[in-house]
Amino acid sequence: MASVTLRDVRKTYPGGFEAIKGIDFAIADGQFCVLVGPSGCGKSTLLRMVAGLETVTSGDVDIGGRVVNQVEPADRDIAMVFQNYALYPHMTVYNNMAYGLRNRGMAKDEIDTRVREAAQTLELATMLDRKPRQLSGGQRQRVAMGRAIVRQPKVFLFDEPLSNLDAKLRVAMRVEIRKLQRRLKTTSIYVTHDQLEAMTLADILVVMNGGVVEQIGSPLDIYSK
Ligand code: ADP
Ligand code: ADP
Repeated sequence: MASVTLRDVRKTYPGGFEAIKGIDFAIADGQFCVLVGPSGCGKSTLLRMVAGLETVTSGDVDIGGRVVNQVEPADRDIAMVFQNYALYPHMTVYNNMAYGLRNRGMAKDEIDTRVREAAQTLELATMLDRKPRQLSGGQRQRVAMGRAIVRQPKVFLFDEPLSNLDAKLRVAMRVEIRKLQRRLKTTSIYVTHDQLEAMTLADILVVMNGGVVEQIGSPLDIYSK
């Protein structure tokens, strides 16, 4: 677990477009933060900067006391869950979850323990030998989460992870994600353009517009105003 602090974070894309215009906020240890706002307001850009997938033009992203934009992306204790799952189609569920750990040179026994534990948690224990195409959309999304969980990161980043699912499944998975996060107590940043999703998930809600923070607070604070 770790707190996350953004200090006057800015992003200007090559070509001169200013996507993030000075953002400051802090997320305490174990909190679930949701970034919400209309398409194009800069949510993904901000998340990608925290993940190290995008350079920070100026300002600092601090995770657990370390300025992440000065740490090599591979050494950051962060795991990201994407909307398109990004699973390897030719690999089994087991290997999809194990892959990142093998790349880090982790011992086989430790990998096996973590993969099986995550599979248990996510109700995928009987599906470890399947390939992604043999799974439902919800199961694939759970594999994507499994891949993040096995890393035991300090921070989870979610980039619209449910937007490809149908409405019913989206609600069910939303509940699952929240339960899981409460159990693991991993500090999380979750991007969505869906206000209902934002409201039901967030401890702290960050409403963005045009590259700045418009409002920040608990869902109750924000939607009762
Ligand atoms: P959101 O996630 O809220 O939809 P994004 O962070 O994807 O918003 O994009 C914010 C703004 O930055 C948009 O106007 C988008 O067109 C622009 N943008 C995103 N990526 C790039 C890029 N690689 N180069 C130039 N502009 C970009
Ligand atoms: P590849 O896709 O490279 O052929 P394999 O499916 O043969 O990969 O598995 C690679 C490694 O992962 C092997 O060491 C194998 O024992 C382990 N592995 C794969 N699936 C499982 C599983 N369900 N349970 C335990 N270990 C597994």
